[in-house]
Amino acid sequence: MSFSRQHGTLTVEDCAVDDLAARFGTPLYVYSRAAIESAWRAYDAAFADRDHLICYAVKANGSLAILQLLARLGSGFDIVSGGELERVLQAGGDPGRVVFSGVGKTTAEIERALEVGILAFNVESESELERLSEVATRLGREAPVSLRVNPDVDARTHPYISTGLRDNKFGIDIHAAEAVYTRAAERPGLRVEGLDFHIGSQLTELEPLADALSRSLALVDRLAEQGLPLKHLDIGGGLGIRYENETPPSPAALAESLGALLKDRPQRVLMEPGRAIVGAAGLLVSRVEYLKPGHRDFAIVDAAMTDLLRPALYDAWQRIEAVNTTADETRLYDVVGPVCETADVLGRERALALSPGALVAIFDAGAYGFVMASQYNARPRPAEVLVDGAEAHLIRARERVDDLWRGEHLLEAP
Ligand SMILES: *Cc1c(COP(=O)(O)O)cnc(C)c1O
Repeated sequence: MSFSRQHGTLTVEDCAVDDLAARFGTPLYVYSRAAIESAWRAYDAAFADRDHLICYAVKANGSLAILQLLARLGSGFDIVSGGELERVLQAGGDPGRVVFSGVGKTTAEIERALEVGILAFNVESESELERLSEVATRLGREAPVSLRVNPDVDARTHPYISTGLRDNKFGIDIHAAEAVYTRAAERPGLRVEGLDFHIGSQLTELEPLADALSRSLALVDRLAEQGLPLKHLDIGGGLGIRYENETPPSPAALAESLGALLKDRPQRVLMEPGRAIVGAAGLLVSRVEYLKPGHRDFAIVDAAMTDLLRPALYDAWQRIEAVNTTADETRLYDVVGPVCETADVLGRERALALSPGALVAIFDAGAYGFVMASQYNARPRPAEVLVDGAEAHLIRARERVDDLWRGEHLLEAP
């Protein structure tokens, strides 16, 4: 276990969280290397009996050292911007294992991805296909193409993170996709290789994924009949983690459930997990500034929605615990930050024994945590530490006050 308690103190691997807070300050993101690597390996092992590639979704956590760990394991990457592509390259990732998703790829992003030679463009519209063909032709390249289909299934997750319904902006309507494939095959500069879907995030059931896959396979069969055989199938990401009492399926259960459908299919299977790899591997550590008793009891901490947006953005619940067990009275606290927004809540009505100066840990903050941090209210973004056994590596320095105006210019004359 990467997270445990020793003598009442929370530890990450062999490092005490209070020591890390003293050394690196708060608010502080702390990740366990072992937790990240074992989550990736569990996914990889689940699909070991077939040709597959895990393309870790960089948007879940794009810190360079984390991408580097995954690149060393042989991971591929799913990117959604040119910036993420540069992060992958900077971390030593192999561009030949990169798939590029996203509805709004710019010409410059497409050019760069062609130049470094990515594995596939997950194309989300016919206009994008047209632009890709034109750019590739102009550069004298062939763009490897996967169409992202929108299978019109209800992922049964939070509406903000559901992406596979017809009403969503993502992908090409599966009913129209056959014709789009045919036209794609006729366009110059394109090499049609795959099919892709991603129906949503924090999925806790396999049925929507299996539905999406079987609808997609029917299309794959029709395409093969037309002389358009595909080389890979990309099943997206989205597997949930346990924040509270969810019971998300394991990668092994996912592999088993899809395995029956994929049996005897020659295609290589790609997948794009993000949250399931890093979500449970990170904590956000914060210090209590003030306790404010009253109609509701508030614990005002030094972390805020600017450091961890999920609770404010989608009312997400993440476990909060005191880092040290104490004799303080346990009360039901609303754990809030200092930002001037009522939405600046990290957790409501949490039973905690706290005193000012105490440390709290917000669990399962490895995915969609730091990446969504902002400087709103002129707050420098937090530091990030990667724990490896008894060692703690600072993988991102805390921003300094002068980082807040980097790139800004005062006017010259009065
Ligand atoms: C966000 C995203 C993912 C990763 O989703 P998780 O829920 O973090 O696994 C994968 N593919 C695409 C296209 C995405 O947009």
